Parts: sequence; structure tokens; C-alpha cells
Amino acid sequence: MQLDPARLLSFARTVGTPFWLYDATTLRQRITDIQQLTGEGIQARFAMKACPATKVLREMQAAGIWIDAVSGNEILRAENAGHAVGNNPPTILYTSDVFRDNALSVVLENGILPNIGSAGMISDLRAAGYRGPVSIRVNPGFGHGHVNSCDTGGPSSKHGVWFSDLQTVAKQVESAGMKVVMLHSHIGSGPRFEELHENLERLAGEFANLLPHFPDLEGVSLGGGIPHNYRDAGAQIPLPPLKALFARCRERLCAAAGRPIRVEIEPGRYFVASACVLVSRVAEVKTTRSNEKGAGAKFAMVDAGFVDLVRPAMYGSFHRIEVVAHDGGARSVEPIVVAGPLCESGDVFTRDDAELLVPRDLPVPEAGDLLVLHDAGAYGYAMSSNYNSIGKAPQLWMEADGSVELISRRETLEDLLKAEVSEPIEA
Ligand SMILES: *Cc1c(COP(=O)(O)O)cnc(C)c1O
Repeated sequence: MQLDPARLLSFARTVGTPFWLYDATTLRQRITDIQQLTGEGIQARFAMKACPATKVLREMQAAGIWIDAVSGNEILRAENAGHAVGNNPPTILYTSDVFRDNALSVVLENGILPNIGSAGMISDLRAAGYRGPVSIRVNPGFGHGHVNSCDTGGPSSKHGVWFSDLQTVAKQVESAGMKVVMLHSHIGSGPRFEELHENLERLAGEFANLLPHFPDLEGVSLGGGIPHNYRDAGAQIPLPPLKALFARCRERLCAAAGRPIRVEIEPGRYFVASACVLVSRVAEVKTTRSNEKGAGAKFAMVDAGFVDLVRPAMYGSFHRIEVVAHDGGARSVEPIVVAGPLCESGDVFTRDDAELLVPRDLPVPEAGDLLVLHDAGAYGYAMSSNYNSIGKAPQLWMEADGSVELISRRETLEDLLKAEVSEPIEA
């Protein structure tokens, strides 16, 4: 995403810092990329947990992208943004391992296709009187993520029904009067593209072998997992081989079934990662000195922290950083650490999953400069929290013509206190 320094400084004066800035053009380009992978019998969903802003959901709806939702409120947000409900076709899929809060009632009331990740969910559906179609999420025993906590397939993953239990679970579905219309597996979005290819191909093969056991099957979902290159802004993920792969998978599945089978993919990050930046202000630059406990470092202290963007603190994720000089002046490059305002030593943006401090060669900013964290659109605002009672930062949306709109305001103390009550309960 290309940024105009003067405009960024002007936005910062208008809405304060930190703030999120979305670029509609970048988002639309990513949507177009995915549309080129889909078409005849191949349907894309947006894993909306990556970025549930109404503005983004509307773009998806306009582009014919369906939704993968993971909570009752995600379903309602998608519906509120204009996505159709119902299961014919299943434009919104509910994927989870557990029903909680309003999820079960929202699924039932809106005719949403449930994609069940645990057999217990069948009992919940049965007890609620549901006799409709279901999708089963399968853990195929393999998968990949960029770190262990992102593994979505394999023995360490909590997601889905373990593949060798699938027949048993399918029988439970049948005896509960429901039918399996879709099999699903999401095997993660690690950075290794080769591995993704092999895994997807293998997954389609396993699903093809299962088809004879699922006479009601209409669709197969190969999940999300199209990676985004966070390190290299110019890198383009090689999508044409994926297009061929999805087409090949579909042919194989249709041949095995002897009827048309819809193939689905559900990217999250690929759609939105590059479409948003988090803009913070540098408060000061300070240094620690080396001693017997370790090496000193130069810290650029910014006003954004892991309450805004948690990925580095949570997974050691890398985000490109750009410094915007407030006076347009030159800044010399040195290894620095970028840290935030929170009362946690882990509130550091330049780190990895092993080291707390991974100093990065960056222009050493001055107080008042802006520091931009790139590729923050996926699991950015969506994962932001109210830790330290700071309140969420505002989101701005830049249209193709350069006009800018505030799409969520900065949260206030009143927002934070809104759910606090003093009500006696009978128990
Ligand atoms: C999170 C998730 C996705 C999207 O993953 P990305 O890595 O963002 O592409 C897709 N499907 C399911 C079921 C998910 O939980």
C-alpha cells in the first residue's frame, strides 16, 4: 500500500494516533486475485474473522464472495452487511468446534449451514430439533502454520473431527436425521507455498476417496491458507498454479462422485492483510546500555501497542515498518527496537517467536514522526483489545478517488463501561 506522507500527517492531526487506514483499491485488487481462482463450480468465502468491518464485508458481498463465520455475532454482522442467509446456497457457513452464546440459535433461526468440528455439536443440534444439512470439518492429520499455535491440521490441532473418526461421526449425523452436504478442512497458511500445494492436493485426494460414503455431498471446502508475504511488499504469491490446482481438485472430486461437486476456498488474510496499515506516533527514542544481563538497545517508543496489533506479541509475526518524518527531514538508519505504551515488556513490534528484541535496521525516528506498521489488515483491528482500558483506535477508509471516511471512531471510556452493570442475579 503506497502512502502519501503529507496526507498521513494530516490524518494524524485530524483523528489523532494511533489509527488504522484501509485502502479500498488494494482490497479490491486482492478480491480480483481470488476471483481469478474461482468460477465454474469453485466458490470463495471470506474468513471474516480476519477483518469483520462492515465496509469490508460489503465489498465481499458485492464481489460475490461468500462468508465463513465463527460465531453467532459474525453471522449477524455478515447479514447486517448485506450477505444472504439460508443454506440454499449456503452463502454463510458457521465453522466452529463449539456452539457458544447465541451461535446455535442464530444458526437455527437463519438456516445457516453448520460446519461442525466436534461430535458434541451434533448432539446440540439434535437436542435443538435441527434435522437439516451439516458440513463436517475434518482434521486430516496434516497441515501447516507459521508457528505451532497456528497449526490447523495434525495431532496438535484442536480443530475438526480427526479423520479416522469421520465415519463414526457421519453415522451419528445420519442417525440424528441430518445429512452431510459438505466436508471441510482448513490446513493453515504457513509461508511455504510448496507445502500448501502438496497439502491441498493430498486433501482433495482424501476427500475424493471419501465421496462414496457421502451420497448427499454437494461441496468440499479446502479451507483458507493462501499466504501473504509480510516481508516483501513487492512479492506476489504465485496464484496461477493454484488456479490449476483447484480446477484439478474439482475435476477429481466430480469424477469420483459422478455428479458436480462444489469446491470452496476460504481465504482470510490474503484478502485483507495488505489493505490496511496501523499508523502510530513516535513519542521518543531512548536507549538501554549493555550490562552483564545482555546487550543494550535503542528503543523507538510509539503510541500503538499490542492492544492494537497483537500479532507480533502473540506469534512473533513480522510487519514491515515505515517511518514518516514529521518535518520531511532525513533520518539515519540504525538497528532499533520498536516498542509500545503498555505495561508489559512484551509490548514490542520488532521481535520474533524466539526473541523478545529483534532490532531492525530502520530510519531512527524523531519524536513526532509517524511509524507505520504495514500489512495490518488481517487479524489486526479484529484482534485488538481493551487491555489497559485504552479503547480501540479509529479506522479510516480511503476510497479509490482518494477521499477518506471515518468508519469507526476512537472508543471512549463510556464505550468501555457500557457493559458494566450492577444487577443481582438469582442463582
Ligand atoms: C482462520 C480461518 C481461515 C482463514 O485463514 P487465513 O490464514 O487467514 O487464510 C479459513 N478457514 C477457517 C476455518 C479459519 O478458521
